[in-house]
Amino acid sequence: MELQIQNLKRTYEDKVALDISDLEISSGSFIGIIGPNGAGKSTFVKLLAGIDPISRGKVLYNQKKLHKNSEVYQKMTLIFQKPYLFRTSVFDNIAYPLKIRGEKPEVIKEKVEKLLVDLGLQDLRDQPGKTLSGGESQKVALARALVFEPELLLLDEPTANIDPQSIMVMERVLRDFYENNRPTIIMVTHNIQQAKRLSKEVFFIDEGKLIERGPTAQVLEHP
Ligand code: ADP
Ligand code: ADP
Repeated sequence: MELQIQNLKRTYEDKVALDISDLEISSGSFIGIIGPNGAGKSTFVKLLAGIDPISRGKVLYNQKKLHKNSEVYQKMTLIFQKPYLFRTSVFDNIAYPLKIRGEKPEVIKEKVEKLLVDLGLQDLRDQPGKTLSGGESQKVALARALVFEPELLLLDEPTANIDPQSIMVMERVLRDFYENNRPTIIMVTHNIQQAKRLSKEVFFIDEGKLIERGPTAQVLEHP
């Protein structure tokens, strides 16, 4: 999905959390968002997801505004840092978006089972979503997002507080999804190595401004 940002601004009372003049993100981009705490990274992805009100400016998705185009909502997914899972089983948590979409049970089963295997979640299949550890929840949230095959995937620190081995598993699944589907991915990360491993481009945000943008190698190899 192509994104065009024009004079995007979010303020809290008189404090500016984000202020980006013009920005285009072409379809099939994989962008890593980096920057210090409080820089405006989460605000940026929340504005793009339409779950935080824009104070000024606009975002266009394939030339259309989000609120006039509910179609866009059916093509995008946001993964929060602290995902919200349902009380139902892990399987049903992941299957949920496909049920909503009215997929056939056989198709749902096939897609969900594949993600359970890829993410090493088979043993947790029948466990209630609410009883998982933080890291397990983040894996389930990733599966629930990918099963939906979004055209735009927004991730806010998807692997924060996860053990290194699980990070590698999640990165492999995310990379495969990107290679096979060519979605647009925008991922906030504190982990520079992760941005180097996954993203094609990096945006450096500080004090609400887009300070730098460029190919990952170029931006992150600076002295
Ligand atoms: P980051 O994700 O880069 O850590 P955020 O986007 O969460 O930064 O926050 C950007 C700025 O906006 C910070 O200064 C933060 O304190 C402020 N901010 C974020 N959410 C709120 C809120 N709900 N109310 C007031 N200020 C907020
Ligand atoms: P992150 O830096 O990963 O975005 P935070 O801990 O900064 O996480 O923010 C968590 C939540 O708290 C977000 O929903 C954000 O909007 C809100 N928040 C952040 N800063 C403030 C603030 N100064 N006042 C009120 N809410 C805030």
